[in-house]
Amino acid sequence: MDLSLSKRVFRFAPSPNGALHLGHAFSAILNHDLAQACGGRFLLRIEDVDTTRSRPEFEEAIYRDLAWLGLSWETPVRRQSEHLAGYAEALERLIARGLVYPAFLSRGEVKSIAKTHSLDGGNWPCDPDGALLYPEQERELDPAVARRWIAEGRKHAWRLNMSRATQEAGPLLSWEEEGKGPEGQTGKIAADPGQWGDVVLSRSDAPGSYHLAVTLDDWAQGVTDVVRGQDLFHATSVHRLLQVLLGLPAPRYRHHGLVLGPDGRKLSKSNGDTGLASSRERGFSPADVRALLAGVG
Ligand code: GLU
Repeated sequence: MDLSLSKRVFRFAPSPNGALHLGHAFSAILNHDLAQACGGRFLLRIEDVDTTRSRPEFEEAIYRDLAWLGLSWETPVRRQSEHLAGYAEALERLIARGLVYPAFLSRGEVKSIAKTHSLDGGNWPCDPDGALLYPEQERELDPAVARRWIAEGRKHAWRLNMSRATQEAGPLLSWEEEGKGPEGQTGKIAADPGQWGDVVLSRSDAPGSYHLAVTLDDWAQGVTDVVRGQDLFHATSVHRLLQVLLGLPAPRYRHHGLVLGPDGRKLSKSNGDTGLASSRERGFSPADVRALLAGVG
């Protein structure tokens, strides 16, 4: 029997669009240590599907910072930019099933539709990240018109028709949460992808959106345990939906607490003081970083 088949597989999946900070360090160390504790595997994945924001120097810095922390990972490292054909193929399957449609409205147009609606006394809904939900008016656009607009070179994204998708997936969508959501949610969580509206699955500068790429990659890499920050807790609803639509198994999920800055807010990649490289320059050791992160849940 091949015992490696039953090993648990963890991953740390940073986007190379900025310098890693203490929050990333916590996530990477936690994944690495959990894998080690159960004799499992620790993978690193570079989420560089968004070519407009990803930079090779940030990718190099990720390897440097993680090595400095004393972590080691399997090679070759999966880089999303090398798997665009796989995302496109999955997208085609969803388009063929009528679950995805081309969406042409610009951000400004969405804003003004929402504003007009509010002036009429309505309350335009937002997703869990606070972004306006995409209007549903293009779901039933005549396919011949859509094809013509695409041929004319009109800018578009491919969006999931959330009502069709949730109908097809059925009402029993859930996941097992081993950590905690931002409001302490744990155990069996009922997924609610509808709160995200018609999410983007592909756009011209990023052929697989975060949601599509992460779902396919976790499956392709045999990830059994997704351990990541609580800021991605609600996104799991979309990932579970895509797994069901694409016939992929559900991993276990563990969302961990976020490392907050001195102002009590979530760290951002531009936050110099909590960047790993600047901690290193200020004489911090990897042990100091571990000690600092010991209290995060
Ligand atoms: N690439 C994402 C980030 O850097 C993390 C994705 C995930 O862990 O699912 O925030």
